[in-house]
Amino acid sequence: MINTAKVQGFKINLLKYEEALNFVKTSLDNGENIQIVTINPEFIEAAKKNPDFANVLKYAELVVPDGVGIKLALKFKGINQEQIRGVDFAQSLIELADKNGYKLALVGAKPEVNTKLVEILSEKYPNLNIVYSHDGYFENEDVIIEEIKKSGANLVFTALGAPKQEFFNDKLKVSLQGVASIGLGGTFDVMAGCVKLAPPIYRKLGLEWLYRTIKQPERFKRIFPTLPLFLFHSIIEALGSKD
Ligand code: UDP
Repeated sequence: MINTAKVQGFKINLLKYEEALNFVKTSLDNGENIQIVTINPEFIEAAKKNPDFANVLKYAELVVPDGVGIKLALKFKGINQEQIRGVDFAQSLIELADKNGYKLALVGAKPEVNTKLVEILSEKYPNLNIVYSHDGYFENEDVIIEEIKKSGANLVFTALGAPKQEFFNDKLKVSLQGVASIGLGGTFDVMAGCVKLAPPIYRKLGLEWLYRTIKQPERFKRIFPTLPLFLFHSIIEALGSKD
């Protein structure tokens, strides 16, 4: 059993980066079905209003804190947990897949981004077994799930934005066997070089969200008031639990 804490009623698994990676490796080697969620405050605020999404988060086998907001919310409760960023974790999973011959499927992002990502990865990792790829703008998800099934993929990256990718991965989990899936949001755009990774100083300070908002100001309304509201609720929760 992995250690778990709750933030505003939502499960977060408490493990070190390497432990999270090992959990995925063990699950893949044992042919288990797992869904990995890289959670951030936007997920929690959305799940409060969407019981189906809340349910998917509840039953996900591995929920790692992608956002600095989650790390802070845990800190308010006296828990030190490192941030496990989707973009880093995806990179580590690719290296794991390369070493262990896992069969990778890449589903999501715009067609040109998806194609570029496959190109970049195939060039960098000639032995990487990419068995399936598709952009994220499809009509019928059942068709895509059937194609993933036929491809024999056992490691599936989805980058469809949340909660779409989490619902998709949940469906994947009930439809397929021995598959680890992970929702990766805008990570394909970064990995394909179409969006720049936040510079190290932003990463060090946990301010990737600020960098993304400066680069794409239209994201402002997604962050505000969600992020301050989330932190406010987290502080109230932490104060309440210390009574
Ligand atoms: N996307 C997709 N299909 C959709 C909606 C979005 O493939 O129907 C992709 C989009 O092209 C982008 C990613 O999903 O690559 C999500 O990006 P966003 O920045 O919204 O995600 P976040 O990281 O904020 O979850």
